[in-house]
Amino acid sequence: MSKTTIPYKIYLSECEMPKQWYNVRADMKHKPAPLLNPGTLQPMTAEELSGVFCTELVKQELDDTTPYIDIPEEIIKFYKMYRPSPLVRAYCLEERLKTPAKIYYKFEGNNTSGSHKLNSAIAQAYYAKQQGLKGVTTETGAGQWGTALSMACSYFDLDCKVYMVKVSYEQKPFRREVMRTYGAVVTPSPSETTEVGRRILAEHPGTTGSLGCAISEAVEAAVSAEGYRYVLGSVLNQVLLHQSVIGLETKAALDKYGIVPDMIIGCAGGGSNLGGLISPFMGEKLRGERDYQFIAVEPASCPSFTRGKFAYDFCDTGKVCPLAKMYTLGSGFIPSANHAGGLRYHGMSSTLSQLYADGLMEARTAEQTSVFEAAEQFARVEGILPAPESSHAIRVAIDEALKCKETGEEKTIVFGLTGTGYFDMVAYEKYNNGEMSDYIPTDEDLQPGFDSLPKL
Ligand SMILES: *Cc1c(COP(=O)(O)O)cnc(C)c1O
Repeated sequence: MSKTTIPYKIYLSECEMPKQWYNVRADMKHKPAPLLNPGTLQPMTAEELSGVFCTELVKQELDDTTPYIDIPEEIIKFYKMYRPSPLVRAYCLEERLKTPAKIYYKFEGNNTSGSHKLNSAIAQAYYAKQQGLKGVTTETGAGQWGTALSMACSYFDLDCKVYMVKVSYEQKPFRREVMRTYGAVVTPSPSETTEVGRRILAEHPGTTGSLGCAISEAVEAAVSAEGYRYVLGSVLNQVLLHQSVIGLETKAALDKYGIVPDMIIGCAGGGSNLGGLISPFMGEKLRGERDYQFIAVEPASCPSFTRGKFAYDFCDTGKVCPLAKMYTLGSGFIPSANHAGGLRYHGMSSTLSQLYADGLMEARTAEQTSVFEAAEQFARVEGILPAPESSHAIRVAIDEALKCKETGEEKTIVFGLTGTGYFDMVAYEKYNNGEMSDYIPTDEDLQPGFDSLPKL
């Protein structure tokens, strides 16, 4: 097929949008390890999980066998307001790089929350509403998840309580105000409003908080109030399931033009966008139908896949959540300041962790200065101002395209452009002023995190 027959943007029509999510676990020979009760160390039952999570979401969390799950009509209706998202052929970037590679990106930043997180937020809010709940609680670090959830909750008229990591609450007032505009109650974490928050404040006065700590507070707030449940924006199986809409649309768009990617690249914080993007392609690989190269990109400062241990670990600092088997740096690990807030989690989705352990996907790290170089290069030719998180995927996509230039290979590269960076201008300012530094933890720096792993 000649180059010109493929448009800059491949859109699907509304009726070509996926009507079911795809559950990659159904095709996995080695299923992800079950969540364990932190008290008994036995697999969490549906009943135990239902105290924390919505009932239907618990079902999805534990379902390792059903390959396709219907997307409820109400959620499809909401998806139609901002989906299908475009799959863009990066012609301008290809030209600038003078590469024979063909580069495509799936752009998830075309909604007010500015990221892919809305895909799961709306699903989780829907099931909470169906169950007749009053509201949900959650944590947010950089703020994208809290923003997405507040939009979803206002759509379904649900209360939304967000525990926002204190340092972000103070440094990202605009994110905070978007959430409040959509009706969320935003509390800086750690706070005096929960027992675990008070404990952490007593032990570490003056702490600016962490994601793990905000999770503990949000869980406590959910289980101690009638009619509330806790929701999480990444890591969990259910979130990867909802995010499969990204991969299904990508595959449908590529299929329209008979394009078969050689490699698929995504940034990985907790693994939800990458898991969603690769799901249908990974399904083909698992079923032996086709082979693809999958690459997870993580910050060199928070290298869960590349330097973490594959072990059961706590999902939060307060150790109130179930244990998950995953690549982890330990719940006690505190990453150095890095501007990709959405990639600072100590662990990784247990589904992706299992696929990685089985050698079905690769992982690489990128240092933040080189990530911002890639972000700037991309912004200047493709127009979109990318989120720092997404720019990790851009970095590796550019590196791979430059390799093709050397070898002359015409590889087809697809990467996930998870969001826009308008709320990250302080990070861009640091980069523009030449004040950005790279920090790679030493083995000694990582040791305390590994020491915090539970001894099972
Ligand atoms: C949250 C976020 C990420 C990382 O989360 P995953 O669950 O790993 O996808 C990546 N990009 C953006 C824009 C985000 O908001």
